[in-house]
Amino acid sequence: MIRIENLHMTFRTKQGQVHAVKGIHVNIKLGQFYTLLGPSGCGKTTTLRCVAGLEEPDRGEIIIGDECVFSSTLGVAVPSYDRNIGMVFQSYAIWPHMTVFENVAFPLNQMRPRLTLPEIRERVLKVLNLVKMDALEARPAPFLSGGQQQRLALARALVAEPKVLLLDEPLSNLDAKLREEMRIEIQELVKRLNITSLYVTHDQVEALSMSDVVAVMGEGKIIQEGSPIEIYQTPDDQFVGSFIGLTNLLVGRVVSVSCDDNGLGQVETEVGMLGCQLPGGIGVKDPVGVMIRPEDVVLCSKENLPKQNLVEGQVEKMMFLGEALDCRVAVQHVQIRVKLHPYVRLSRGDKVLLELPPERCKVIRGQVQGLGEGRDGEGEVTRRAG
Ligand code: ADP
Ligand code: MG
Repeated sequence: MIRIENLHMTFRTKQGQVHAVKGIHVNIKLGQFYTLLGPSGCGKTTTLRCVAGLEEPDRGEIIIGDECVFSSTLGVAVPSYDRNIGMVFQSYAIWPHMTVFENVAFPLNQMRPRLTLPEIRERVLKVLNLVKMDALEARPAPFLSGGQQQRLALARALVAEPKVLLLDEPLSNLDAKLREEMRIEIQELVKRLNITSLYVTHDQVEALSMSDVVAVMGEGKIIQEGSPIEIYQTPDDQFVGSFIGLTNLLVGRVVSVSCDDNGLGQVETEVGMLGCQLPGGIGVKDPVGVMIRPEDVVLCSKENLPKQNLVEGQVEKMMFLGEALDCRVAVQHVQIRVKLHPYVRLSRGDKVLLELPPERCKVIRGQVQGLGEGRDGEGEVTRRAG
């Protein structure tokens, strides 16, 4: 339904050029909820604005439905108002001098051939009903709460019944509780209407919870694309693994690829030898990183010890989070973060045995370093300096 081929976009400023989008390919199926997820400045908004026709790319192709709306080779650039899209901006862009009704009716007033007043009224009330705002049609826009403004922006984007909905961080101005509600509402609504959605966010929880497909972006490129489960559980590289969720990352080197009975290779890491599933094409002595999520680390009792991937450490820090215990364990010179059940009783200084289950250790190729810095996501890699 939306296809983007080799999209490039450069901004020319007094300070020089910014190559904001560097060859993006996207293919979104009809009715799919597709999310571009990445840190601030990675080119998400620019990509979305190119699809909307608000920026002119340097090159590439954009196809919406079966219509090519932009092509540098064919010299096509369909203007924004002819692209049959709805758009919700981060700032909502609601007109303050209009009522709720007038805001939603605005796009319909622009349509040609003209709609009659009763037709406009019917469509506005229908879409206000969809976003649960029918009681507020006469209210002036400045007298709306954050959540109501959000719903109004959504109603206005949907009123012309677009084939495609583009949403740019639409929830980032809402408080946490409302954000969670609106996540569900937006997702249910676009699914019910079978609208193809391209959603942009830097919030991993939004991306994971709402999307059919997530594309993780960094520095103008898509680094990995997949279902939320794939992206979270099998990140292809360090950037994806650490941007989405918390992860422990251990520096290692492959010692053997000769698979043991369980099909595991051996990696020498900062916390000792670990049995791990190795990706194809990796050889002995290759530098790798071993990633394991805090919730996948297992606290062992002395009676029930695994034969491998067992490390010993000392609890350095404990934080009670209500639904979990966030525990940091010093193992040799690194710190391993472990998410435990809140009823586990542990104190600072306790010696603990941890299993890093082989099937949960995700090996990534190459030298790993430069961890987690300069990113605005929630992602963090738990390592200690030195
Ligand atoms: P994101 O939405 O992922 O935060 P953007 O697409 O807004 O990122 O920006 C990508 C890059 O392009 C950034 O380096 C940003 O500073 C730059 N950029 C965005 N818009 C403009 C503009 N109008 N003029 C110059 N540079 C811009
Ligand atoms: Mg943006």
